[in-house]
Formats: sequence, C-alpha cells, structure tokens
Amino acid sequence: MSALQPPRGTHDLIGDEQRRYARVVETSRTVTTLYGFDEWATPIFEDTRVFSRTLGDTSDVVTKEMYSFDDRGGDSITLRPEGTAGICRALVTNGLTQSLPQKVFYAGPMFRYERPQKGRYRQFHQIGAELIGPSEPLADAEVIACGWDILSRLEIAADTVLEVNTLGDRASRDAYRSALVAYFSTHKDALSAESRDRLERNPMRILDSKDTADRAIVTDAPTIAPHLTPEAASFYAALLEHLARFGVPFRENPRIVRGLDYYNHTAFEFVTDRLGSQGTVMAGGRYDGLVEQMGGPPTPAVGWAAGIERLSMLLADAGSPPAAVAVIPAGEGAEAPATVVLQTLRRAGIRAEMAYRGNMKRRMERANKIGARAAVILGAEEAARGVVQLKHLDTGAQEEVAIDSLAARLS
Ligand code: ATP
Ligand code: MG
Repeated sequence: MSALQPPRGTHDLIGDEQRRYARVVETSRTVTTLYGFDEWATPIFEDTRVFSRTLGDTSDVVTKEMYSFDDRGGDSITLRPEGTAGICRALVTNGLTQSLPQKVFYAGPMFRYERPQKGRYRQFHQIGAELIGPSEPLADAEVIACGWDILSRLEIAADTVLEVNTLGDRASRDAYRSALVAYFSTHKDALSAESRDRLERNPMRILDSKDTADRAIVTDAPTIAPHLTPEAASFYAALLEHLARFGVPFRENPRIVRGLDYYNHTAFEFVTDRLGSQGTVMAGGRYDGLVEQMGGPPTPAVGWAAGIERLSMLLADAGSPPAAVAVIPAGEGAEAPATVVLQTLRRAGIRAEMAYRGNMKRRMERANKIGARAAVILGAEEAARGVVQLKHLDTGAQEEVAIDSLAARLS
C-alpha cells in the first residue's frame, strides 16, 4: 500500500520547526500580556457569512481562497481564513460589546486555498492582537508598539521595516475613490482582467494587486493624502506622533491598502526583504465598521495579525530547552531506586531522563547524545546509603552527593 501524503499546502511541525512555532507563540503571549491583552480561542470554523459579509466580496480571500463546504446538516461552514472576523463575532455573541475595551490576543491555524510556495501555505498559523473599543489614535500606536516589541523580543525587529499609511474616513475614501477611478480608467486596457473588474466595484483594491502590469500602473496612481478630511489628516498625524513616543521606527508608504475591506484610518505592515516575495510578516489596521457588520453596535477597533511561519523563518534559532540530567542505574537492583531519584528531580523542576534499557556504557553514550549536563549514577549499594555519584559532563568532575541534597545541588 502506498503511503498517504499530506494535503498540498499543509506541513507537519516537528522538532526544530515546532520549537520555532512555540517560541513565537510564547514570546507573543508574554509581550501581549505586558500590554494588558487576554487570550481568546474561537472555533476554527464559522458560519460562512462571518467572513463573506465582512472581508469584502472583491477581496482575494473571499473570491478565491476560502475553504467553504456544506456540513451534513446543510449549513455553509468555512474554515477560518483569518482571525479578526471570528473575534468580532465572539465579542457580539458573548455580549461583550458593552464591556469595552477588550484587548484580545489569539494564536492558531488559518486556512486559505492559495498556490503553495515558500512562506505561503493552505494551512498556516497566525498570532494576532485586537484592541476593541477605543477610537483614539493612541490605541493604534499602542497595538503597533506591541507588535514591534514582539519582533524585538524575537530578535528580528532589525530585519523588518514598519510601513504605515492612512485609509482615511468615509468622506476621504469616497473622494479618493473618484480620483482612483479617474486615473485607472485612463489605463483601463493595460490593467489585468481582475483589476478591470475591481475598477467598478472597489478601485482601492487595485493598489494591492500582485499582477506585474498592474504594479507598473499603480506606481503613478494618486495617493490619498490630498483627499483626506481635516479629521482624518489629524488622526494620522497623531498616530505618527504617538508611534515616535512609543519608540517605534516607521516609514510612511502611501501604497499600503491591505487585502481586506474592513479597514479605515490606520493601515500598516511590517515587511522584510529576507523572505522573497512573501515579505509581509505582520499586518493590520483600524476596522471601525466590522463589529457593526457582525450585528453588534458601532464599535471602533484596531489590530494586527502575523504569520507564524514567516516569523519562524526569520528566527536565528529555535531556542532550546534546558539541558537534561541523565539518571543512570548501575547494575542489578538499581533501576528501582534510580526511578525514584528520577522522579524526585523532575518534581523539583529539573529536566531529567532515564533510558529504558542498556548497560552502563550504552547509557553514558545516550547521556552524551542528548547533551545531558550531568549524569546521576547509582548502584544498589549507593542507594542503600542514600547517595549517588554526580558526574558533571562538561568538566568530567565527579562527586558523591546525598540524594536529599541532589536537586539543590543541580539547581
Ligand atoms: P499576502 O499579501 O502575503 O497574501 P495577506 O494580505 O493576504 O498577505 P493578511 O490577511 O494580512 O495577509 O494576513 C496577515 C499575515 O498572515 C501576513 O502578513 C502573512 O504573514 C500571513 N499570511 C497570510 N497568508 C498566508 C499564507 N497563505 N501562508 C502563510 N502565511 C500567511
Ligand atoms: Mg493573501
């Protein structure tokens, strides 16, 4: 029988890869906690409308990337392609729209039917942060600073650049939209079919096109700046000032629009040149309309999501668990007392391992192979006296230690 293959675009996280994954999640959990965020876990599948109503019906995700199916009861279900919509759904269905602000952290798998390549998968994983409630630009800056601190603690901030932009408010966008339609209409014949379609329905989306011909036209497209209302312009100016106060370096990039429809005011991306064309590692913005679209009251919010695989690829190393202590029974009748010592060490918070079989020599080889820092050797005679031989594997020094003081000696 031939071995079954994993579905295209999925990957197993084993060994070093899973350690990198865990390092990203644990680091971001630590940092978001410092900022007052609380972790939520929502289902990985939702009613299809949670996404179809909110992400925008011209977005890549909704038009071609969703894993949607009818379940056995006939309901349309979608494996979540992103985390924000589900968090907003949960905010509403758990009656939390009256308990604001909510500062939410999440981590977990996302699913998009994409063409798999380096840094782009069909099941991938994201961490994300959402700050729901405040409408002040201070909140936008704080959320971005939190993301920056995660990258710093992962020691990859220096490999990334924060690019920020504003998408303005409704009035700014309407004015900008007209300017974009006018501009792109003069280049209509050179645009990709997809962008021609978007020209009528959602011209801002063209700015985010990955098509090469489109990109050339986008280069000279008008920017939003001259179309900003005074309110939108001062919101953006305040954001940039706050970012400086939070100690977060940034670069303005008027081309950032983000792939999903629900953003307004702030849009930003942390990009790197170390991952080829999959260079965006963390991205987000303000989405004041989303909670209302989900059936809740008007509720301002701002947040970001980051691809764990892309962050993992940037990490210098996976990080490693503390070196173990190898417990080695010597001779007849020693395994029983050695097992007790083994468990005593673990319960004292010391990583300890004991092989399941083998003579003294094989067990010492095994201890070296796992990179043990010390070997705890005991025979029946030592056990009877309540002592062990403690051998420090880095120096080779050996000493006799009472079992009662072994954990303290090793800590
Ligand atoms: P891209 O332009 O690369 O398609 P996007 O705009 O679709 O990204 P978002 O929806 O903003 O991405 O998701 C936030 C982050 O999640 C991205 O910046 C990226 O790090 C990661 N990400 C998105 N899609 C994938 C994927 N298919 N595989 C791996 N990581 C992904
Ligand atoms: Mg995408």
